[in-house]
Amino acid sequence: MDEQDLYDIVIIGGGPAGLSAAQYAARMGMKTIVLDKSPVAGALASSSKIENYPGVLEPMTGPQLLDLFKKQAIAFGAHYVETLVIGVKFSEEIKEVYAMTGNYAGRAVIVATGAMGRKPSVKGEKNFLGRGVSYCAVCDAAFYKNKVVCLVGDSEEAIKEASVLARFADKVHFISPTNNIELQKHPTLSQNNINVVLNMRLVEIRGSDVVQDIVLESKDDKREVIVPTDGVFMYLHGNRPIVDFLDFVVDISDDECVITNRMMETNIEGVFAAGDVTCVEVRQVVVAAANGCVAALSAEKYIHHRKKRRLDWG
Ligand SMILES: Cc1cc2nc3c(=O)[nH]c(=O)nc-3n(C[C@H](O)[C@H](O)[C@H](O)COP(=O)(O)OP(=O)(O)OC[C@H]3O[C@@H](n4cnc5c(N)ncnc54)[C@H](O)[C@@H]3O)c2cc1C
Repeated sequence: MDEQDLYDIVIIGGGPAGLSAAQYAARMGMKTIVLDKSPVAGALASSSKIENYPGVLEPMTGPQLLDLFKKQAIAFGAHYVETLVIGVKFSEEIKEVYAMTGNYAGRAVIVATGAMGRKPSVKGEKNFLGRGVSYCAVCDAAFYKNKVVCLVGDSEEAIKEASVLARFADKVHFISPTNNIELQKHPTLSQNNINVVLNMRLVEIRGSDVVQDIVLESKDDKREVIVPTDGVFMYLHGNRPIVDFLDFVVDISDDECVITNRMMETNIEGVFAAGDVTCVEVRQVVVAAANGCVAALSAEKYIHHRKKRRLDWG
């Protein structure tokens, strides 16, 4: 590997934890990259109003605050790539991170993927995972060329993913669990091959070898509707730490959060974690940002074999 392809710090996740880490790392002169699934997918990105982050005098939306974090990190020299991380290799001194856009190598890695994950909970979801059920349009949309797919969810992330699916599938049923009529006027969802269905709950995913249809239930009158489909893309958020891509190579608690010490060090040298993905008891932006700062200072200490952390002032 060329030295120029090697980062000092690879940060997985571009929420307040990851971007604060990036800001501190880049400002200390570390070659830093943030790999972020989507700027509309995390907890802060989903918050409509933030007024308790120190220094924010007027309430602002989560995406507005996130954008400030991102601009500040990039201004200090951090690289930012929008990509989904799908795996890691932490067994060597140089750590590798596998993403949809390629592989990234770093002397240190900071995991900051938040806690918006969920366990498969809809009947049939787990059985058909990889056989018609997907959580990633960017990864799997091409398999549905000229087919019919259903997308379940109503977040900004879901809307963005619908536009990816509509480039391949003949028909995309966008199924929202809420009655948000604004969705029907959304420019992305107004394409001819996207059909917006409101106020329906996904009850079951059915099929034989692969998905064949889904059962929806109207939230108004409990009426059941069966929709034939080749695939189901799920964008329902939960509150579980996102650790699937780690494949248990770092210590994970029974609650599936990443275990760290006070300095945000995991059990693997050179691998740190910050924010909601850790076993933190208070999930708040200010805590995630503080964790990111500590993780970056710890990573810098590790890379330079320092006995003490560098002070970030003076
Ligand atoms: C609805 C709501 C309202 C809230 N309101 C407040 C509030 O008013 N005040 C407050 O202080 N806190 C609030 N919180 C909590 C706060 O948003 C979180 O504590 C904070 O955002 C955690 O930051 P984080 O960086 O750890 O995770 P997140 O903000 O969730 O960011 C994680 C990032 O990682 C990315 N990611 C995930 N998986 C991958 C992957 N495999 N590859 C690459 N990237 C990935 C995501 O796209 C996301 O950008 C709220 C949370 C929610 C859900």
